[in-house]
Amino acid sequence: MTNLFDITGRTAFVTGSSRGLGHALATGLAEAGANVVLHGRGGDTLEQAAERLRALGQGAIATVSFDVTDAAAVEEGVGRLIAEHGCPEILVNNAGVQRRAPITEFAAQDWDDVVATNLSSAFYVSQPVARAMSERGSGKIINIGSVQSMLARQTIAPYSASKGGIVMLTKGMAADLARFNIQVNAISPGYFATEMNRDLWTDEAFNTWVINRTPAQRWGRFEELVGALVFLASDASSFVSGQNIFVDGGMTSVV
Ligand code: NDP
Repeated sequence: MTNLFDITGRTAFVTGSSRGLGHALATGLAEAGANVVLHGRGGDTLEQAAERLRALGQGAIATVSFDVTDAAAVEEGVGRLIAEHGCPEILVNNAGVQRRAPITEFAAQDWDDVVATNLSSAFYVSQPVARAMSERGSGKIINIGSVQSMLARQTIAPYSASKGGIVMLTKGMAADLARFNIQVNAISPGYFATEMNRDLWTDEAFNTWVINRTPAQRWGRFEELVGALVFLASDASSFVSGQNIFVDGGMTSVV
């Protein structure tokens, strides 16, 4: 029987995969047999991430670096990626940033950084990739949302706005691209301990809040994002588009 979830030999490009959840997503794709292009703004972190994946001995592992908030840099970087590795079969828009302050004190520059990194970047990166996918007649785009795609929290209104935007961008892209056999979906993680939220998981009171607020009564484990990812990256989801899967231990299902 054909394995609907088989992504062996397909090329995947994951933005923000030098560390954190992006690296875990890239690792999951490599373990599932994909060739993976890792990404970040460059430096030792990115190269070390590539070495870790190469050590798995699965698929070809490459890197590309550019700032996702700079439209011209994205155009050049994605052009280089496609020239060197061909058009990826799988694109994961994961790069993101967090800034925290009450809305009355939120700096305009921080708003711009959050929206550019979390939302505009998905548009910048997806556009040239989707053009190449359209010419080929197939592709998978997975955008990374958050529980904040649906629920707000104090001090992170711009982040919530950007992650709400990601869900609607996902639906809009699905509307435009389904006819080219490109499926666009989102994965929205609950709480996972990464560098981005170090201030949260090192805070005992917040840690207790997460455990009490999550029906699974714990933070997520990185590898728990991979099942939804492989589903959305594979032929198993060939008629699924515009959807958002929460991988959050039940958090968004309860008050
Ligand atoms: P991390 O801070 O651990 O990693 C962020 C990644 O994004 C790094 O690889 C970083 O690369 C890259 N990145 C950031 N800014 C830029 C930029 N301007 N240009 C290029 N790359 C950039 O974050 P997480 O792993 O926690 O988050 C990953 C995604 O998951 C984000 O979209 C986040 O919103 C989302 N998410 C995270 C949750 C969590 O609990 N951690 C929960 C829900 C969603 P480098 O610094 O090497 O350039």
